[in-house]
Amino acid sequence: MQTQILGYPRIGANRELKKACENYWAGKIQLETLLKCRREITKNNWDIQQAAGIDLIPCNDFSFYDQVLDLTLSLGAIPERFNAVALNKKNSELDLYFAMARGYQKDDLDITAMEMTKWFDTNYHYIVPEFTKNQNFNYFSQSILNEFISAKKEGFEPKTVLIGAVTYLLLGKEKEENFDRLDLIDRLLPVYTQILEDLVKHGAKVIQFDEPFLALDINDKTKEIYQNVYQKIRKQFPQLVIQVATYFDGLKDNTSLAVNLPIDILHLDLVRNLEQLDTVLNEIPAHLNLSLGLVDGRNIWKNDYKKSIETIQNAVQKIGEERVIIASSCSLLHSPYDLDLETNEDNLPSEIKDWLAFAKQKVSEIAFLRDFVNNPENDALVEKYKENQDAIYRRTTSKLIHKEHVKNRLDEVQPSDFSRDSAFIDRKETQQHVLHLPLYPTTTIGSFPQTQEVRSWRSKYKKGELTTEQYDDLLKQETERTIRWQEEIGIDVLVHGEYERNDMVEYFGEKLKGFAFSKNGWVQSYGSRCVKPPVIYGDVYREEAMTVYWSSYAQSISDKWVKGMLTGPVTILQWSFVRDDQPRSTTCQQIALAIQDEVKDLEAAGIKIIQIDEPAIREGLPLRKTEWQEYLKWAVDSFKLSSSNVSDSTQIHTHMCYSEFNDIIDSIAALDADVITIECSRSQMELLNAFSDFNYPNDIGPGVYDIHSPRVPTKQEMIDLIKKASNVIPTNQLWINPDCGLKTRHWEETEKALIEMVAATKELREIY
Ligand code: GLN
Ligand code: ZN
Repeated sequence: MQTQILGYPRIGANRELKKACENYWAGKIQLETLLKCRREITKNNWDIQQAAGIDLIPCNDFSFYDQVLDLTLSLGAIPERFNAVALNKKNSELDLYFAMARGYQKDDLDITAMEMTKWFDTNYHYIVPEFTKNQNFNYFSQSILNEFISAKKEGFEPKTVLIGAVTYLLLGKEKEENFDRLDLIDRLLPVYTQILEDLVKHGAKVIQFDEPFLALDINDKTKEIYQNVYQKIRKQFPQLVIQVATYFDGLKDNTSLAVNLPIDILHLDLVRNLEQLDTVLNEIPAHLNLSLGLVDGRNIWKNDYKKSIETIQNAVQKIGEERVIIASSCSLLHSPYDLDLETNEDNLPSEIKDWLAFAKQKVSEIAFLRDFVNNPENDALVEKYKENQDAIYRRTTSKLIHKEHVKNRLDEVQPSDFSRDSAFIDRKETQQHVLHLPLYPTTTIGSFPQTQEVRSWRSKYKKGELTTEQYDDLLKQETERTIRWQEEIGIDVLVHGEYERNDMVEYFGEKLKGFAFSKNGWVQSYGSRCVKPPVIYGDVYREEAMTVYWSSYAQSISDKWVKGMLTGPVTILQWSFVRDDQPRSTTCQQIALAIQDEVKDLEAAGIKIIQIDEPAIREGLPLRKTEWQEYLKWAVDSFKLSSSNVSDSTQIHTHMCYSEFNDIIDSIAALDADVITIECSRSQMELLNAFSDFNYPNDIGPGVYDIHSPRVPTKQEMIDLIKKASNVIPTNQLWINPDCGLKTRHWEETEKALIEMVAATKELREIY
C-alpha cells in the first residue's frame, strides 16, 4: 500500500512567501532572494513528507501566486496586452508573470490584470486563463521542469502535479464570441506533450493530472474529450505512471468514464463523497489503482482512524492492497501548516487543539493509516490508534460544544423572523424620507487601507505594549481622519474604515462564542493574501455587542450617514473551519441569530444604514446543480434571519464580490437587501445583465473600479462604466462604489481613485 498527498501548502510555515513576494513587488529584495525563498519552502515541504514516510511526494505544487497562472505561463497562453512587458529586456519571466496577476503600471504602460475567480467551492482564487478563437500555445516557461530537476537535486523522486488539460480549458474564459474553448484541445495537447517529454527525459516516472471537473456536471462533448486526451497521452507515454485526481465531489454519473480512462491511478475525494467508493469498486477494471482521499484537505479535524481503516479495508478486500493508495482528499493547500506551532492556550485551548490536525499532522495521519493497516499488531501503532479514538470520543462529549440555550432559541424561530415588515418599494420611500440621498449615492465597501502603522498598533496591543485605551485612541484618530477625508471629497454614505478589524470574519469569530483561533493557521486566499479561518467548534452565540462602539463613535462625529458594517452568517460559515458534527445549515442559523442581535443593537444605537457582507454566498454553492436548491434555501434564510428584524426605515445593504449572478439571481433577490453592492468592473459591468434581465427591484451598487490591483482608474473609465450600468439599470436604483473593501490598498492610490470616482459621479449627475 502506498501513500500520497495531492499538494502541500506553499506559503511557508510562517508566511515567508507572502513576505518575500511583497518585498519583491515593493523593490525591496532582488529576484535571487525571492528564488531562494522558494527553494527553502519547497525543500522544507519535501523534507516533512519524506520524514513522515509519504511515497508519492508532489512537486510543481509550489506557486509564487497561483498554480493556474503558472500553467498559463508554461503553455504560453499570455494575453496579447502583456506583449510589451514580455518584450522589455529588463523584465524577468517572473515579472511578466506578476504583471499578468496584478496588472502593470510602469514604463508608460497601463495594463489591467487578468481576471481572478474562486477555485471551485473554496476560498482560494485562481487567475482565469483567457482564450481567443485562434489561441496559440507554446512551451513558454520551463518552470515545471526546473522544479522537477531541483527536487531531484535535493534527493527526491517526486511526482509532478499538473492541472489536467481538460480542467485547464474549462477553468478559462472565452474572450471572443462563437467558439468553444474545449475546441482548443488539439492546439493545447502538443505543448503538454512537450512538457511531459522534457520531464520524462529528466527521469520523471509519475504524473498527477488534476481533473476535478470529472467530479462535476459535464456534458457529453467534455466526456468524449476526456477519453481522447488520456488515450493520446497514454499512447505517447506508455511507461509513465499516469494518475488522474478528482476532488471536491464524487464521480457520480462520470464513474464509468473515469474508471475506464487509460490511466494507472484514479484518485477519489472520499471526504466529500464516500458513497462513490462502492460504485467505483464495482466498476473498476483490473489494471487501475485507487487512491483513497481519506484525510480531509479542506478542514482541520483529526482523522477518525476507525472510519478510515474500515474504508481502506473495504477497498483492500475488493482490489488487494497493492492497488490501494492512501491519500489526502485534495491538495493540502487549503489546510494551515502546522498544529505544533499553536502553543498559546488563550488562542487555542488544549482541549480543542486535541481535536485538530493541520497539514503537517495530516501527512502523519496518512502515513499512520498505511502503517497500521500493514501492522495492526504493532504496540506503538496500537497505542497511537487508541490515542486517536480517545480524542474523537472526547470531542463528541465535550461540554465546550453543546449549549442548551442556543439550541432552544433556534427551535423557537418563527416564519415572521425571516422577512421585513413592508415591501421594498415602501421601505425605499420611508428610508429616503430619513436619508435624503442624491441620485447615484456614493459609498465604499467598508474597509480603508490597513497601513503598516495600523497593523503595528494591533500587534503591539496584542503583545500588551499598548493599553486598550491607547489602542482605542489610535484607532479613533485613524477613524476620524478617514471620516473627515470622506466628507472632504464628498462621499455620501461614509464608512468608519474597519481599522479595529484584522479580518472580516476573524473579527467576529473572536467576539462570538463557539469559535476558536489559531495563532498561525494561515491559508492562501489569493496571491500573497492569506486568511486565518476561525474554527467553529461549538454552538454559536453572542454575549455582547461587537461593532456598536466603533459605528456609534464614527456616526457621532459626522453629520453624514455612516454605515454599520457586519459580516453575514453565510460568509462567516464559509470562511471558517466548520464543525462536522451537525449540518452546516444549523451552524449557519446559529450565527444568523448572533448577527441579528448585533443588527438590533446597531439600530438602537441610531445607525440608519447597516451593511451585512455576504461575499461568500456563491462560493458556498454545491458543485453539483442538483444540490443547489437545498443550499440556497438555508443560505438565504440565514441572511434574512440576520437582517429582517429591523424597522422599515433602517436600510440594509449587502455586498458580494467575484460572483456570477445569472443562475442564482432569484436567490439574490430573495435576500431582499435594500442595497446590494457587487464586484463588476473587471467584467465591464457584464454581471449587471443578470440583474436587468431579472428586473431586479432593489438598489444596486456595481463596483466601478477594481480594488484588487494598485492601478488607479481614470475618471473617464468610470464614467463609461456608470453609463453602461445606467443603460441596463434604472438610474434611481444605482449606487456608485468601488468593487470591494480597500484594506489591501495604499492610501495614495485609494485617494486618487476615490476622488476620481466622486468626480465621475458628479459629472453624471449633470447628465442624468
Ligand atoms: N466590508 C468588507 C471590507 O470592506 C468587505 C470585504 C469583502 O467583501 N471581502 O473590507
Ligand atoms: Zn468584496
